[in-house]
Amino acid sequence: MNWEPWTGCYPLSDGCKYCYFYGPYAKRYGQNTIQKTDKFDWPVRTNTKGEYNIKGNKILATCFATDFFLPEADEWRHEAWAMIRQRPDLEFLILTKRIDRFEVSLPSDWGDGYDNVNLGCTVENQEMADYRLPLFLSYPIKRRFAACSPLLGSINLRPYLGGLEHVTVAGEAGREGRVCDYDWVLDIREQCVQAGITFWFKATGSRFQRDGEVQKVNPYQQGNLAKELDISVLNGKKLF
Ligand code: SF4
Repeated sequence: MNWEPWTGCYPLSDGCKYCYFYGPYAKRYGQNTIQKTDKFDWPVRTNTKGEYNIKGNKILATCFATDFFLPEADEWRHEAWAMIRQRPDLEFLILTKRIDRFEVSLPSDWGDGYDNVNLGCTVENQEMADYRLPLFLSYPIKRRFAACSPLLGSINLRPYLGGLEHVTVAGEAGREGRVCDYDWVLDIREQCVQAGITFWFKATGSRFQRDGEVQKVNPYQQGNLAKELDISVLNGKKLF
């Protein structure tokens, strides 16, 4: 289940180049105007009996089609945090490329972090891993994961894995998607296994290289092919 309290975004780093949602190659929304959606208060909306429309014990993938930490959303993020605090029975899975803005608009009662927030930092290459992950690990956050998506090169995550619960990897989707080499994926998997954390190979991307051959994979098969390769190590973890 997704919660998109606002819409709109704009490219920040190389991983955004062929963003599915925004920028010149956008396929879906294609607009950079950042605005609240009509689902802004969705987690706390109630029916006529005063019950929440969204029942508890669910994972809400939050801002997967925008960025939770956009500067344009700084004011709204106060309200978003308040809604998150109001629903301890929901888990909010937040994904961002702007982790360096984490402390802006952070609620005063954040403390060591809210139990119901699982924050994911996206790192598409070594440069972004080395910039974003030390910051990510320095903030008070109870549950952390990294998303290497789109994976654009080999990444040494070893210095950071001690502070992470999980790593998700995916190649780049879309007609222009850049090559994702299976060796990079296997290497990250091995790093996760050695560190004792879970690993999910979510999707191959549209150009998937194995044994020196690049295979074009259609959008509907990218998740299936990753699954067929059967290399994820989830130990029963439910992602969303
Ligand atoms: S941060 Fe995410 S949503 Fe925003 S442009 Fe980059 S890839 Fe797209």
